[in-house]
Amino acid sequence: MHPAPSNSQLAGADLLRRVEALLEQMTLEEKAGQLAQYSVGTPTGPGTGRNDYETLVLTGAAGSLLNVVGAQETNRYQRIAVEQSRLKIPLLFGFDVIHGYRTILPIPLGMAASFNPALVEQAVRLSAVEAAAEGIRWAFSPMVDIARDARWGRVAESSGEDPHLGAALARAYVRGYQGTSLSEPTSVAASVKHFAGYGAAEGGRDYNTVDMSDVSLRQIYLPPFQAAVEEGVATLMSAFHAHNGVPATANGYLMTRILREEWGFNGFVVSDWGAVGELLKHGVALDGATAARKALSAGVEMDMEAHLYGPEIPRLVREGKLSEAVVNEAVRRVLRVKFALGLFENPFVDEKAAAYVATPQKRELARRMAEESFVLLKNEGSVLPLPPSGRKIALVGPLADAASGMLGIWSAKGEPQDVVTLRAALERLLKDKGTLRYAQGTGVLSNDTAGFQEALAAAAASDVVIAAMGEDENMSGEAGCRTRLELPGNQRQLLEALASTGKPVVLIVFSGRPMALTEVQGFASAIVQAWQPGIEAGPALTNLLWGQVNFSGRLPVTFPRSSGQVPLYYNHFNTGRPPGTTDLTRPPSNPAEKYVSRYIDECNIPLYPFGHGLSYTTFSFSEPTLSASALKAHEVQKQGKNVLRVKTQVRNTGKVQGTVVAQLYLRIHGASTAQPVRQLAGFQRIALAPGESRDVEFPLGFQELSFIDTCSVRGVEPHTRYDVWVGDSSEATQHASFTME
Ligand code: BGC
Repeated sequence: MHPAPSNSQLAGADLLRRVEALLEQMTLEEKAGQLAQYSVGTPTGPGTGRNDYETLVLTGAAGSLLNVVGAQETNRYQRIAVEQSRLKIPLLFGFDVIHGYRTILPIPLGMAASFNPALVEQAVRLSAVEAAAEGIRWAFSPMVDIARDARWGRVAESSGEDPHLGAALARAYVRGYQGTSLSEPTSVAASVKHFAGYGAAEGGRDYNTVDMSDVSLRQIYLPPFQAAVEEGVATLMSAFHAHNGVPATANGYLMTRILREEWGFNGFVVSDWGAVGELLKHGVALDGATAARKALSAGVEMDMEAHLYGPEIPRLVREGKLSEAVVNEAVRRVLRVKFALGLFENPFVDEKAAAYVATPQKRELARRMAEESFVLLKNEGSVLPLPPSGRKIALVGPLADAASGMLGIWSAKGEPQDVVTLRAALERLLKDKGTLRYAQGTGVLSNDTAGFQEALAAAAASDVVIAAMGEDENMSGEAGCRTRLELPGNQRQLLEALASTGKPVVLIVFSGRPMALTEVQGFASAIVQAWQPGIEAGPALTNLLWGQVNFSGRLPVTFPRSSGQVPLYYNHFNTGRPPGTTDLTRPPSNPAEKYVSRYIDECNIPLYPFGHGLSYTTFSFSEPTLSASALKAHEVQKQGKNVLRVKTQVRNTGKVQGTVVAQLYLRIHGASTAQPVRQLAGFQRIALAPGESRDVEFPLGFQELSFIDTCSVRGVEPHTRYDVWVGDSSEATQHASFTME
């Protein structure tokens, strides 16, 4: 198979000539050096002093550095590389730019809740510009792992559980980072990670084993990676876990067969941190040399921080254990990216560029992104929006004034002083128009009730209580896994006590994952899921709470009723024994109810489904109409895009302006492999004035209508039937159907 190269910017004749000319001059050690990446300043590094890294660069033994901070430092190392090293090959500086570089945006899971790829692209562009200004031309982002298990801490870094949404956002990130051309000085090479299936770790425990079928891999986990490759992503990162018995970092099926032979990827793959060395712990290599050989041969071109490629590759080649052609091909791929980024022409950045200022424009973008990320889960008795003035507000909870909690996981160069917390925003807002009583009440993980009294007094003296609760920035992200998804510490008790004052409570949940809110939902009239919203947390929230801006975010992940239900996701398979209409809120009472796929102490349904989110208005959807009632499988297979159009009329049936995320779901019956009970196949954000209606059309093509068969091939099959639903969550009910002949 010879697919076209995925990125034409890495395939130009002139660029390829320059790569060959350079390659010819390189010693084996210099080649291995281009494939080695070191993190500056880590205790596990090759030494402890700065000089060690300088020596690595000077001798051409490091092709890339990560975690170098600031324009002066990147320039300093770059000067050694391009002015003093023998071949003057520039360094590529990498960094975990995850949700902003200096201007911190909502966490990726929050950005995904916007269902707004265009806005995400703009936000990511800002991160790229800020990182590139300091010499960082490579971001270890986006993490496109499908995340179905709320226990896994890295759900926070993901775009959630859905492959269609994940693919759309993967494209947006790649466009945002890489801009129109990699050679632009503001462009940053993206790195989609972690290839592949890392989110399916058993038990939701980070780094754990994954055991998945090829059908699941290809239908659920790979689409966002493939979309990123089609969009021209320059690099990928291999994962830590083992897939189908072979560690992802030595997995030729993933990195050679799928990535290169099937998709035509022409960028390069970097290992995750130390993952080449971890092949020994996985038990597939007895020594570092074998680990290096296996990883390189499978398709990992760059060794992040295992320090094995540098010393082992030249030795392996000299001993005849590794072909130099394999090494050359790896070096070519790395050099192609360096040339495409224009690093040979423009290796340095301007150190005199002004110090960072969170300008109004940057804040505005961060605020919009946060506003669109919030999801209104519940709004009983329309307690929200709060009336414009004259209100007495009690603000309580451990996250009401927690700047670092708002920055969240992986906050790169974000600074707490740039954050406007909810407390700060409310102080500003209520200065002349109300009264604010603030009491923290408790800590995130505290069991001490000493602060309850003050919080209850504040509540008693106020008209409404805003409770800012949830997790702090250390409770999700890498290695941030939890077995309990309820509010931690004694936050639940505080909330219950606040509710007993009789004052309406608005609960704002800050978290890096879906939490199990069943026990606390009765204590709050309204619940807002706010994720970790970034520097504009406070102003964005007050805009929504007071109704200046309407809620438009939707859940990119299912919210379970209890921890024991996870992994819980909407696009699951049916079983031969679905629970049907049995009342699942009580224990089974007869055999017909018992021998179905259910728990005896919990129902199967989530607390809040994927795609759910309320607004200050309401929307209706008409029954969908289809451009055809039957399609021909062989034509769909050939034609590709836009083979069927699904139309629905959406109406704003409430009293205020609002934006709905119109969603389209499909189910395929009668195929050779069982298909999910429904799967997202389209979404669109539609802004409507009160009473306004609009026709919305979803074009469907091969990608949306196809599935993976038993031979691991994507296709459509004749004699199948499709259900179509449109609406504003995964529980959409407006229905139509068509057949594939
Ligand atoms: C993480 C990656 C990250 C890398 C570099 C690893 O531990 O899994 O996602 O990019 O570190 O910091």
